[in-house]
Amino acid sequence: MSKKVMAINCGSSSLKFKLYKMPAETVMVERMIERVGKDDAIFRYTYQGKKHQATQVVTDHYVAVHLVLDMLLSERIITDYSEISGVGHRVANGGSYYSDSTLINAEVEKHIDQLSVLSPLHNPVNLVGIKAITVALPHVKSVAVFDTAYHHTMPLVNKIYGIPYKYYAEDGIRRYGFHGPSHQYIALKTAELFPDHSQRIISCHIGNGASITAIKDGRSSVNSMGFTPLAGLVMGTRSGDIDPQIILYLQHQAGMSAQAIKDMLNNQSGLLGLSGISNDVRDLAKIAADSTDKRQERADLALKVFAHQIQFYIGAYAAELNGVDSIVFTAGIGEHSALVRELACRNLGYLGAKIDADKNAADALSIETADSTTKILVIPTDEEIMIARDVVRVAQLE
Ligand code: AMP
Repeated sequence: MSKKVMAINCGSSSLKFKLYKMPAETVMVERMIERVGKDDAIFRYTYQGKKHQATQVVTDHYVAVHLVLDMLLSERIITDYSEISGVGHRVANGGSYYSDSTLINAEVEKHIDQLSVLSPLHNPVNLVGIKAITVALPHVKSVAVFDTAYHHTMPLVNKIYGIPYKYYAEDGIRRYGFHGPSHQYIALKTAELFPDHSQRIISCHIGNGASITAIKDGRSSVNSMGFTPLAGLVMGTRSGDIDPQIILYLQHQAGMSAQAIKDMLNNQSGLLGLSGISNDVRDLAKIAADSTDKRQERADLALKVFAHQIQFYIGAYAAELNGVDSIVFTAGIGEHSALVRELACRNLGYLGAKIDADKNAADALSIETADSTTKILVIPTDEEIMIARDVVRVAQLE
């Protein structure tokens, strides 16, 4: 029997929402609220093929969830909340506790709260979303879908850092990996579309947050994010990997506080910090192409560093997988920036991966040349459908 299932994805300042009919996976309605916490939050939604947009005050994620729920009734998408069978929440960090999605109860909420110290931008807002639903829909089964769970298959050598073992064993300091639902979706979709090219996949989730996963036979072997989502690639505003001694240097030699360093590494670094202009690839690409713009050199530098890091991880992960069958680009930049894909795929001929300029410019599904033995793919990610599928499976809604 058809069930109505909600997927809720609370980001640090956004909320993505989809209502599905399951198991058909039909999207009944989708909503996106950006700039949550601001006076001019942007509310976008698509209903019956029409796109709508409004600006309004949305003070926090609790209010955002309630706005979305109210609209389901006011637009008569549902007549009563009892029609909803299950709700899935994306949760950034499940730490060592969870290797799979799980039904939410008081203990799960406590763990999510405890893990907020590791993911301060995400776990607290994920919990707010969970609480808002528990209050509004007390009858409904809620499932937490963790960003970290998919990476539980990483072998110990890829999880552990080169610091004394006790920090791993006693304090849980290790690589957790993130963007799990997205990378898992890419693994499944690649296998569905190109079964002969799905044994060894390098999945590049390149958005404002960015991570790359080496996937072997559908399972995560390693992900570029680490103990927290700050690690790995240079991102929109996050630094990615740096020499850890820099932090001590800034603290002791330059007198910066821990909070100031945290803010610098999370919010003022990456594309924004390198360019001094923007974290948005669209802005940087425009300026980098304009020789009359004084900022051209810095925009160009930021894009080159960004793409070089992607190239660096593709090389490392091809070694991890002993070769590669498909390199897949996804998320905001991966799906839309031909420039970043082109820069990142330069010099990959040694892997049998050659990009076709025309197919790349068209954001085609398959962007490799005819003589490329490795596929290079552009696949839109769908984290929400992974959440909805897990609600059906974990809450046993079949
Ligand atoms: P995400 O975090 O996956 O939503 O990705 C957001 C990022 O995608 C933005 O910061 C932009 O840099 C990038 N982006 C979105 N659309 C485009 C586009 N058409 N061309 C280049 N970059 C884009």
